[in-house]
Amino acid sequence: MATTYEFKTEARQLLDLMIHSVYSHKEIFLRELISNASDALDKLRFNSLTSENLRGMSEDLHIRLSTDSEKRTLTISDNGIGMTHDEIIDYIGTIAKSGTGEFADLLKKANEKKEGIPELIGQFGVGFYSSFMVADKVELISRKAGEEKAWKWVSSGEGNYTIEEASRETQGTCVTLHLKLEDKEDEDFQDFTQEWVLRQVVKKYSDFVGYPIKMSVERTQIERDENGKPKEGAKEETVVEDETLNSMKAIWLRPEKEVSEEEYREFYKHISHDWNSPLKWINFKAEGTSNEFSSLLFLPEKPGFDLFMPNSKRGINLYVKRVFIMNDCEELIPDYLRFVKGVVDSESLSLNISREILQHDRLIQTIRKSVTRKVLDTLKKMLNEDRQKYIEFWKHFGAVIKEGLFKEPANSEKLFECCLFQSTSSPTDWFTMGEYVERMKADQDKIFYLTGESREVIENSPHLEAFRDKGCEVLLMTDPVDEVWVQYTSEYKQKKIKSAARGSLELGSEEERKKTGETLKQKEQEWKTLLELIQNKLDKHIKAVRLSGRMSSSAACLVSEEGEMTPHLEALLRASGKDVPQVKRTLELNPGHPLLGKMHEIFIKDKENSKISEYAELLYGQALLAEGGQLPDPSGFNRKVAELMANAL
Ligand code: ADP
Repeated sequence: MATTYEFKTEARQLLDLMIHSVYSHKEIFLRELISNASDALDKLRFNSLTSENLRGMSEDLHIRLSTDSEKRTLTISDNGIGMTHDEIIDYIGTIAKSGTGEFADLLKKANEKKEGIPELIGQFGVGFYSSFMVADKVELISRKAGEEKAWKWVSSGEGNYTIEEASRETQGTCVTLHLKLEDKEDEDFQDFTQEWVLRQVVKKYSDFVGYPIKMSVERTQIERDENGKPKEGAKEETVVEDETLNSMKAIWLRPEKEVSEEEYREFYKHISHDWNSPLKWINFKAEGTSNEFSSLLFLPEKPGFDLFMPNSKRGINLYVKRVFIMNDCEELIPDYLRFVKGVVDSESLSLNISREILQHDRLIQTIRKSVTRKVLDTLKKMLNEDRQKYIEFWKHFGAVIKEGLFKEPANSEKLFECCLFQSTSSPTDWFTMGEYVERMKADQDKIFYLTGESREVIENSPHLEAFRDKGCEVLLMTDPVDEVWVQYTSEYKQKKIKSAARGSLELGSEEERKKTGETLKQKEQEWKTLLELIQNKLDKHIKAVRLSGRMSSSAACLVSEEGEMTPHLEALLRASGKDVPQVKRTLELNPGHPLLGKMHEIFIKDKENSKISEYAELLYGQALLAEGGQLPDPSGFNRKVAELMANAL
């Protein structure tokens, strides 16, 4: 008895898109199903290495295409790992990534404009559903390797599907598509029961698949004489033969000039499940050592949806002597290059290498080093040769690459060569740290930066005023990761990297600094009791009050001391659910501001004047607002400002 299940809402929306798709390259459904089959064969081969009851099953692994032109069906079958009843529900009945905000957004966009479909399917790995672009009913029968029972899943893609027990001789999966009838209005209609159509599609999209994609083909033959002429009286006979449609050639071993761009692109799509073309590929070999390997790596053009998710996959597949070992091999590439996809094929590793051994294997560590170096060199080259293209790439992946600055400090010099930053010197341009250092004035001995939620907030910050006045460039950083790497990286080319919002101000020549310091000290002495009063009033919010030369037009700002958390980092940690204690900071006041001069005048006349404490609160509130912070008591602040305005009128 078949049990009926309902598709989840997002799956239903997606299927609806597929069924009514006007996308012109519908043939890519075959690439998706072949990719799934090839993954299933990979999994069986890998599991059979370690699992006793799967031994022997990894022989004659293949994919088969068969058609029935009368019934108008196309079947794609494999003898791979297969799925259990529950796996069918989990993998085929739901979209694994549904529920994420990005998915809902993309779905909406795709609904509005049908060209969005490939991106949608690719990023969210819902390739199987693309069958519904060409089929009005899909049947899937699967038997998990090592189990007796098989299950049949059937759906017309409209609202629900059924599952019932079925039978299947071997392990694996077969997917049968009941193809839609020709739509006369569809100029791109292709008949997927035709041998030549399938042959062409396989060649175009799946030629490199590492297992034979077989199809039975009919051929007519006739007995011939030694001259090749049909023998007298001989009759034409029809024979059915198995033919392998793909060349199975490992694309990474073929000389680059023999591989077309299209082949590289299709291979990338196959291994990455990304429907967009890659931005760049890197083909390289390490030969002549005791650690020989070949590698083909790809830089994507756009990030996958999981780039910043905690369990996002690292995409290098490991092969040993052309035999697939595993995908997403974490040991082959550092986390901060997790967007790189590709293949490493080792000549020197053993075929039965296990996940446990991998972590400590010296050869693997050396491969990882060369892969990392190669990627960083490529990035640097791209930056030098095509800066505009690199900037676009950087906007998508820069925040990930910068993780390397603290995750792998040994590489930070190389990393800095491909990191880009924005600064106060231009509203839109991007610079390397090296370019910043070159522009530094003779009396500037540090690299200054400011972090914050957005460029706008940072640019309005009072912390920047003195830097602006002195014409000193400041790097403006808005990625959450910037808060982290600056804690770990204190220098670049022997120049200290320093926050413009931390510690004392260190601008100008030594002499100038000394002079400003003395003037401030003198003023502080003069205003001592006033400053003490302000400190007392604001004690629960701030650590200290001091005068400073950091500002020119603002009256007050808040600064952290060296090594303390910035308010931006505090906010980020809180937003991620961490319980962080409030860090008290120092309130810096601008002695040159008329407001403070006035406050001092009033104070001298009447030490008890209540205005002083009210103004102290307002100054603190202003300093918080100026850096984009939140007031502890917004309505109290508002009331005070309103009173002040009323009195001033
Ligand atoms: P993706 O392949 O991108 O993960 P699909 O919707 O195509 O997305 O497939 C979803 C999942 O269903 C796969 O990840 C896999 O676990 C399972 N699956 C699909 N086809 C097969 C198959 N032929 N054999 C075994 N499992 C399969």
